Amino acid sequence: MRKLAAGNWKMNGTSEDLDEILTLIAAHPAPKQCEMLICPPATLLARMAEKAAGSALQVGGQDCHAAPSGAHTGDISAEMLRDAGANWVILGHSERRQDHQETDQMIRAKMMTAHDHSLAVILCVGETRAEREAGRALEVVAGQLDRVLTRYRSDSDIGCRAENFAIAYEPVWAIGTGLTASSTEIAEVHSFIRNHISKEFGILGATGRAIRLLYGGSVKPSNAAEIFALPNVDGALVGGASLRASDFGAIVAAL
Ligand code: 13P
Repeated sequence: MRKLAAGNWKMNGTSEDLDEILTLIAAHPAPKQCEMLICPPATLLARMAEKAAGSALQVGGQDCHAAPSGAHTGDISAEMLRDAGANWVILGHSERRQDHQETDQMIRAKMMTAHDHSLAVILCVGETRAEREAGRALEVVAGQLDRVLTRYRSDSDIGCRAENFAIAYEPVWAIGTGLTASSTEIAEVHSFIRNHISKEFGILGATGRAIRLLYGGSVKPSNAAEIFALPNVDGALVGGASLRASDFGAIVAAL
């Protein structure tokens, strides 16, 4: 399985930023070492997908609703993301957990809908600073995985395969703060996640070695190579440094 360099533009970007991806594609037309993905705001998704058509760059959404359609003002369905050209969606980002009170149960329902609509999923997990300081980081991550993946224990009817599922470990205290988890902290949590999904979940266990584990939290060109050299780190989910093609391109090159 190739590594995955994913960019999350969050609530950033207007039309004039779209050309960043043309610069990125020109600099990295066919990276052998990794898949490249950018998740722009929904307003840019279709136009970005058009610009990226035929290139190695994939585009994705930042969230989708659990229901297939209906009376949910302001929300976006998995089918709409697909229609706009997305083939990935980020689910359970800590900013959505905080800003929109998303629970693991809601995230689980979204993940099933996303897989039903053939969207690959990046599931985000991670502890807060208080939880880490209390020595509870692994317990918190395990709880999030267990609650979200509970229906993913056994079978193929859920449509979850290694290539359409990645887990991003994003310690909340490292997001947008310039603080990166230490190599020891990242390696510990990633190895824990790898063992946990292999042990606990049937279908994921079968393919557990192949599921990509991404690190996210202040990844930038200057620290990417060190993070990517760690065991069980199969890519990154990049926020701020994904907005400019030069920074994201340098991270792609470091994979
Ligand atoms: P930063 O890279 O800006 O810290 O954001 C990480 C993140 O939340 C990616 O989803």
